Parts: sequence; structure tokens; C-alpha cells
Amino acid sequence: MVTDQKKSAFTIPLEDETCKLSIEQLSKYKGPTSKRHEWPCPSLQFISFKNGELHLLNSSEGKSFNLILSVCKQHLNIMCSCGNTSAHLCEHAYSAVWEILWHNRENYFRKLLPEGSLALAFQYPRYFDKKESKTGIDTAPRAELGPVYQLTEGFQNMDLHDSLALPGEEKCSSHAPGEGLGYMILLPYRRKMFPAIVPCSGKLNLQGTEIKSWDSFETALKKSQKAPSTESQKKLNLAAHDLWKLVEKIPGWMLIQEEDTDPKPPLKKIFDLWEQALPLLKKQQLVYAYYFYGPKELKLRPKKERTQKIFISGERPRIHFELSDKGVFYQLRLIITVNDKPIDDYDAGYTFLIIHYESIYLLESVRDAALVEWMDENGRWITVFKEHYADFEKKVLEPLGKYYVIERKKSKKK
Ligand SMILES: [Zn+2]
Repeated sequence: MVTDQKKSAFTIPLEDETCKLSIEQLSKYKGPTSKRHEWPCPSLQFISFKNGELHLLNSSEGKSFNLILSVCKQHLNIMCSCGNTSAHLCEHAYSAVWEILWHNRENYFRKLLPEGSLALAFQYPRYFDKKESKTGIDTAPRAELGPVYQLTEGFQNMDLHDSLALPGEEKCSSHAPGEGLGYMILLPYRRKMFPAIVPCSGKLNLQGTEIKSWDSFETALKKSQKAPSTESQKKLNLAAHDLWKLVEKIPGWMLIQEEDTDPKPPLKKIFDLWEQALPLLKKQQLVYAYYFYGPKELKLRPKKERTQKIFISGERPRIHFELSDKGVFYQLRLIITVNDKPIDDYDAGYTFLIIHYESIYLLESVRDAALVEWMDENGRWITVFKEHYADFEKKVLEPLGKYYVIERKKSKKK
């Protein structure tokens, strides 16, 4: 039996935009008779949601009242058909709202806002799940939508202003329009030098993605020193300069030194500078490889046909060896893997670096680089007749196996 509805609204302020209402807060509005045991365990049956008003049938112990809830300007309006006009919430409404808060979240009433999830769920039913229960109705955006702005519980709101003010890569806008400043990785022909990094500059294409005509290396160096650059460019310029100072007068071999008179190259220092430079280079837009014949070229413009746009990979190649039993002889091969996958068609002719198609990789260590150079200069594999195997095993495989995996393979017999 539903008691006749006499409209009487009761208003409770909600906490700011979150529209939170705690049970503690609610209890301030209960009257001397509005105890929960006066209207025990009410069942709230969903009737309708129209014009921002949620209609529920509020029943307990065989009696029922209509309950209408709406939210307006951070206030919850409550109407119970019992016609309560006292300064307190009636026991029906108090007990019902208590149940809603107990079974839902404190910010459940946010869903009743004009653009809240209840209104949208009725407007766009295919994007929302509705669930009726003994505490009325709940709605939520379907999972396929992912987090929904303003609606999803726990949506990560962030203050973009603060985030955007955090340290990041600054935009460098100091160059003349149409002019690009980038970096060239010098790849010296036949290990005449260790690879090095120098600035490069020139006219950009229309999209600003490529340098289409080059300034001389000397001009590029002057421009890079003059132009105020980003923090990472400043660090990169320093590393590139230090690297150049170390490598400019020495051959790029690790293993073969011309004469005893040549001092040992400072391998670790050179490698460390590459390790410093690599992540900085990776941030740059305009990075090229240049197949380089020697320092005399630095007075000139880069030759277009020896210039290649290149991608700096953050992956570090790993090396191991493979020993195949071919019947009358063995073959030892160098295997280079990136992300555990062997790569072929690589170019290992530049100390510390591996070039694979349009990407440049830095080897993991100076020792790896020495072994890559050794194998590369030997043509990448070594054949050993069985007659020499005992000696080879003792002099090469045993020491090598202490540091590197040697995979043993047996060729299938015909
Ligand atoms: Zn009432």
C-alpha cells in the first residue's frame, strides 16, 4: 500500500563538486523519531528517472512511501510522500538515504547531477550499464569506453598546468626560419678513426623534417656554438667536443696498433662519451650518419651521397658465438642479437657501433666491441679443421667461453 504523496522537500548540502555526503553528515539531519529502527532495512525499488528526479518506492515492513531524490547546486533534495513538514528528515527518508550511502559510495549523489551518469545513462542507454537493486539503481559507463571524463570512479584528474611546468625538452626556436641544426655521426672509412659526433646544419625541407642542402661542417660548428640551444643540446655539444678531442689524432682500431710508438687509445673514455651522447642524440630530430674519409673533410660541405638520415636505437645489441660442427671442420660465428633476435646484414665496421638498416646501436661494452672488431676483421666467421681443433679449443674457445656463450651446433649428416 502506497501512502498518498504530499510533496515536502528537505534539503541537505553536499560537499563541493564531489557531491559527497557521509553517513555522519546525514545523521545531523535526523529527528528524534528518525532512527533507522523506526523504518528498518528499507527496500528501494527503482520507479523512474526523469528531469533529474530519481523516483524510488521506499518500503519497509509492508508499508511504502514514494521517495524522490534530486541534486541541484550541490544540494540533495529529498521528498518523502509521508508529508513530513518537521525541521528534521522523516524516518523513511533518513533510513533510505542511509541505505543508499551504506551500499554505494559517499559520492553516489553526484550521479544525479543534470550531466551525471544517471541522466546520461538514460539518454545514451547503449553506452551504460544499469543495475537495479534493493537500494535503487546504479549506473556506470561500459568498460569498453575506458575511463570516462567526469563519470568514471577514480578517473585520474591532473592539474595540467603543474604537469606542463615540469622539466621537459624545451623547444629550440632560435634558428632562422627554414634552417635546421642537427648532428652528424661520422663513420670513418676503414677504421681510420673512431666514430665521432659533429654538429650539422643546412636548409630544411618544407615540412622541416630533413636537411636538404648542407652547410660546411665548419659553418655548422659555428652555428651550434652561437645558437642558444636546449639543455640536452648543450650537454651533447660538450660530449661531442670531448669525444672529438680524444679521437681526432688516433686510428680507430682497438686491436691492431700501427707500431709500439702509438699510445693505447683511451678506449674506456671514448666508450663512456658515446654512452653519454647516445640518449641525448636520441632526443634530436635531425641525426645523420656520414661516411667519412678524414678530418680534411671538415672544411667542406658534407657530400649528399654519403649522408644518411639515421635512427638512434636505445636497444643495446648483445653478442654470443656459435660453433658448428661441419664434419671435417668447425666454424665459429659471431651472433649479434637485438631484443634476443639475431640480426643479419649489419655493418660493424665502426668501432663500438653496429649499423643495421637505418638504425645505429651502441654495443654493450668495450670488450664486446673488441670481439666484434676481431670477428668482423676476420670476415665474421672462422673455420677450423679438426686437425687444429685441440689447439683452437685451448687458445680460443676456452678463454672465450669464460665470458661469452658459445652455442654448439652439429650440422646434419647427409
Ligand atoms: Zn517520510
